[in-house]
Amino acid sequence: MKGFFKQKIRQCQALLEHGFGESEFGYQRYLSALFSLVGSLIAVATGINAWLLGLTVLSISLCIAGGLLFLCSWILIQPAYAKFHGVMKYVSLMALFLLGAYLIASGGVNNSGPLWVFVFPAVFFAFCGFKIGMILNLLFVVLMVLMLFAWGHLLQTFYPQAFKSRLIFAYLTTAALSGFYEMARHSSYMKMKGLMEKFEHESRLDELTLLPNRRGMGNTLREEYRRILKSQSVSSIAVFDIDYFKGVNDSFGHDVGDEVLRHVSQVLRDGIEPQDTLSRWGGEEFLLLMPETNEEEAINRLEDLRKRMQSMPYVTSDFCIQITFSVGVCDMAQDRSLTEIIYFADMCLYRAKHQGRNCVVGYSSVTL
Ligand code: GH3
Ligand code: MG
Ligand code: MG
Repeated sequence: MKGFFKQKIRQCQALLEHGFGESEFGYQRYLSALFSLVGSLIAVATGINAWLLGLTVLSISLCIAGGLLFLCSWILIQPAYAKFHGVMKYVSLMALFLLGAYLIASGGVNNSGPLWVFVFPAVFFAFCGFKIGMILNLLFVVLMVLMLFAWGHLLQTFYPQAFKSRLIFAYLTTAALSGFYEMARHSSYMKMKGLMEKFEHESRLDELTLLPNRRGMGNTLREEYRRILKSQSVSSIAVFDIDYFKGVNDSFGHDVGDEVLRHVSQVLRDGIEPQDTLSRWGGEEFLLLMPETNEEEAINRLEDLRKRMQSMPYVTSDFCIQITFSVGVCDMAQDRSLTEIIYFADMCLYRAKHQGRNCVVGYSSVTL
């Protein structure tokens, strides 16, 4: 029993700290659950107070609304009831609408009931965002105007004329301020989300060649590996390393070395199939993922790429740099882990370097 409560407290702490994720819906669900819980506690506390003052109907109404709000907040925090989360927000809002209308009609304790409606604008925006929040606020204003000015017979108490009009104006002012706040919050949320997506995208891209970097490629490889395991198909991974690249830097300088890297990446990019993914794996190394390609087919295609590179030197008005690369290739067999496959492709690459460079070596020829 003690453990159960400890676990629940820990869950609540985690919820307060992290909410329900980064999405706008998660944010609204989090606030709806929190506000419903706080609202339920206030409703029950004021209900007990009304009971002590002998206002039985008011007390029962407050306790029913409190119970409904508590139920909503409880359902909103249960992941198992995810399909009810959207509708629960509106049940909560309905309870608030009815409670607000009842507090105005009855006057609450010493006519202080209408004061509680000033909580509503912030709650409506927090639950439903700017547009629906605005509609709910306007609907509530219409309801208040009708109750206070048109359906006077519904009122069980007396409000002076000045109080009624000021209640409406004060509510509209609070709603407008809350609306501005919600708009500002939403716009900074969207800006932050955009920046996060931009940084996330950039962190997976190599600045020099604009190819995916090792981090970005890691995701693609893991996804492809999962697909391979499910579909029982075969794909291949090739690792390229430019031959004697240090010599290019030493002879022509680092900037020219950079241009050569860009040139190589362009030649490779133009020579691969649309379904392939090319990445800059490290300094002067590239990794190519060839889906639905076995090792034999991969070797044939890589040979074409190798010849293509050999026939396309890096040329400027002052010099011409002949470029070749060595390639190691291994297919994604089911019984190999992703780390093993990359390691085997690397092993083949070093074999290719030992064989004199400018060649393609497949894993099956190494293991034969
Ligand atoms: P090998 O045929 O054995 O691969 O010889 P290599 O000279 O290509 O190999 P080595 O590993 O000795 O040198 C790789 C060089 O690549 C060294 C490093 O300065 C250079 N390099 C790595 N990244 C960059 C880069 O972003 N720009 C430039 N210009 N050079 C880079
Ligand atoms: Mg290298
Ligand atoms: Mg090299």
